[in-house]
Amino acid sequence: MGLEKPITGGCYCGAVRYESTEPPVRCGMCHCSMCQRWLGGAAAMGVFFEVDSFRFSKGEPARFMTSKILERHYCADCGGSIGHRYKFGDTASIEIIFVGTLDEPKAVDTPSFYFGVEDHLPGWITLREGITQIRADTSPQIAERFAEEQRQNPDTE
Ligand SMILES: [Zn+2]
Ligand SMILES: [Zn+2]
Repeated sequence: MGLEKPITGGCYCGAVRYESTEPPVRCGMCHCSMCQRWLGGAAAMGVFFEVDSFRFSKGEPARFMTSKILERHYCADCGGSIGHRYKFGDTASIEIIFVGTLDEPKAVDTPSFYFGVEDHLPGWITLREGITQIRADTSPQIAERFAEEQRQNPDTE
């Protein structure tokens, strides 16, 4: 049970550090417009850890809700994004860490799914064959809550 050596990582400046004593349960990319806006990039690359074996080992992340169901974790000192956590369903037991914050990102498996593909930017990222594609708007629970929240695109309010 557990890893001999925890998987570790943290923000750019090192004020916030985390560790997991278990390997990730899955990895996936999110192409949704909220992840794009939050990260300033084309997609989020997430490594999923069970919260039971995950902890912030140094400092505490600052928190920001980008929708009613998603809490973003970042460093208040350097501003670096660390990860996020859904606030509903079975995903509430998962901390989703951005792969680039890991101390050894090359050790982590490739993604098994692409989420939010309706917002995918094909000029920047090529979706690989054989990886499950999921539209965020096909999950009624998620689509409904995302629709309530327009903060990611304030000009449309
Ligand atoms: Zn920092
Ligand atoms: Zn997203």
